[in-house]
Amino acid sequence: MGKWEDNVRRVVPYTPGEQPKKAHMIKLNTNENPYPPAPEAAEVLKSFDASDLRRYPDPAAQDLICGIADFYHVKSEQVFAGVGSDDVLAMIFLTFFNSGRPVLFPDITYSFYDVWAKMLRIPYETVPLDADFRIQSEDYNRPCGGVIFPNPNAPTGELLPLASIEAVIRQNPDVIVVVDEAYIDFGGESALPLIEKYDNLLVVQTFSKSRALAGSRIGYAFGAPKLIRYLNDVKYSFNSYTMDRVTIEVGAAAIKNRAYFEETIKKIVATREWTKEELRKLGFVFGDSKSNFIFAAHPKIPAEELFEALKEADIYVRHFTEPERIRNYLRITIGTDAEMQELISFLKQYGKDRRLC
Ligand code: PMP
Repeated sequence: MGKWEDNVRRVVPYTPGEQPKKAHMIKLNTNENPYPPAPEAAEVLKSFDASDLRRYPDPAAQDLICGIADFYHVKSEQVFAGVGSDDVLAMIFLTFFNSGRPVLFPDITYSFYDVWAKMLRIPYETVPLDADFRIQSEDYNRPCGGVIFPNPNAPTGELLPLASIEAVIRQNPDVIVVVDEAYIDFGGESALPLIEKYDNLLVVQTFSKSRALAGSRIGYAFGAPKLIRYLNDVKYSFNSYTMDRVTIEVGAAAIKNRAYFEETIKKIVATREWTKEELRKLGFVFGDSKSNFIFAAHPKIPAEELFEALKEADIYVRHFTEPERIRNYLRITIGTDAEMQELISFLKQYGKDRRLC
């Protein structure tokens, strides 16, 4: 046998949440939006001419980039787009975390960061969250090769105030600071205005959550034009045509509808606050999530047991076994009012049957 296996780039991949193919289920496990995307997305799909697929897409995805730039009142040179924010974040790791010094991110955070770091052989150090699962900006005041964290953080939903984000950026002028704002639209204040002030800041967002287009795969980053140029250089050295024609058109059309976007978010936020109240009555403990999920634990019911019981009832939530500190928590995505009512009814009955809540 040859020794080729010695030279394989071995990786332990990121595990995405389950996508069960059941007709009747309540799917609260991958932070998807329970409402459809803006109607403009459906209109594009209905009128799309399949013969256009003969041609390669626009490698610069200009229609989409200009749509994003218009919506956020920035210049198109300040926007980079990719195949979901996962693609954008992977390009950022590849482009900017290249100093050989460790990149810093929280110990409890999006579990893709350490996967990219390991795959790309980027050294990293995790910075423990405080006892309330909060990021402390002082902890990021040390020599490093870059900083990345989600705001609100995932899977905790905890929001870091803009002043603390600015402190992290100011403490780290010689490296790139990345704020992953996948969930910012559900109640946080975006760091976007800070890109005008700091040329070492990248703000990453996605169409997957607040714009209900997880299936289309659209993510984007805002930053100084120089940062965007460096990102594009790496992208074009990897794959020029990352985004397909349909996706570019769908994204460009959907982002035009500001009213629908705002209305959907309002509904999800109202449902989230209702769910918090109900979970509190049942004895669950959780922080003040500003995202489209709640990270909750019950002092008397082990998370793993509840996760299995919910799954048995075709209610899917997410349970992380690592790190140890979050083993007793469940991450529950906010669905429609009806879905959350069903979840709460199930939990009430479960607690009653076991005389726990
Ligand atoms: N960042 C965070 C914090 C996330 O939770 C997710 C969703 N899994 C992503 C980025 C990636 O989302 P997408 O690739 O769908 O834009």
